[in-house]
Amino acid sequence: MFGCYLVCLLLFQEYGFSLLMILEISYLYQNMKKAIVLLSGGLDSSVALHLAKSKGFDVYALSFDYGQRHERELQSARETAQSAGVKEHHIVNMRLDLWGGSALTDQSIEVENGDVTRTDIPVTYVPARNMVFLSVAASYAEAIGARDIFIGVSQVDYSGYVDCRQEFIDAMEAAINKGTVCGAEMDDPIHVHAPFIDKTKADEIRLGMELGVDFGLTWSCYRGGEKPCGTCDSCLLRAKAFEEAGYTDPLLEK
Ligand SMILES: [Zn+2]
Repeated sequence: MFGCYLVCLLLFQEYGFSLLMILEISYLYQNMKKAIVLLSGGLDSSVALHLAKSKGFDVYALSFDYGQRHERELQSARETAQSAGVKEHHIVNMRLDLWGGSALTDQSIEVENGDVTRTDIPVTYVPARNMVFLSVAASYAEAIGARDIFIGVSQVDYSGYVDCRQEFIDAMEAAINKGTVCGAEMDDPIHVHAPFIDKTKADEIRLGMELGVDFGLTWSCYRGGEKPCGTCDSCLLRAKAFEEAGYTDPLLEK
């Protein structure tokens, strides 16, 4: 708040801004809406982050060190958050590998080669991951006065994960607003935005290009390493999407 007054004083003295203009700037400064963006470091969440910014939100990014197979995506999350100029970026330690149940959280389960035509649930599904993440995001949102949460899930180009579907998002939003004071007592609900729920990954890439997303900072490969493996489900979906969108994946050019 004090910083805001200093900026206004500077504008008044140095640039001759009118009092009305300064009041408007001050009002906008104090009323920037806050949004929590779940940021994995992957393609979808990075576009979601830039989309939230383009809608005028102050972004508070939230990532999870959930005992995933590799740290590479968290490095991407850090770099993406930093390059986008988020207000805060928290990486919450949430050890889902304590009980495993997924190739991503149990090193003894192999990441299988991808098959984009598969209809069963792959071994990379992490039990109730998005339910856990959205619950923590709701806590963060209520604590800092944010009423918007962005999650970059899609039920079009996905691996059949049940927690990437519209009915799950709707149910979580309802639960969040039953379990928070702002939602249950103050008629000031939290909205869960899943802007890509019916979009293809190619759509997301086209939008990301318009919004200036640096896809070279993002990471999708389940296997980690220096370079994407090119054969896991996530690499295959990413490659297909870049091809459909008509762009070269900058990550592969690094
Ligand atoms: Zn891969």
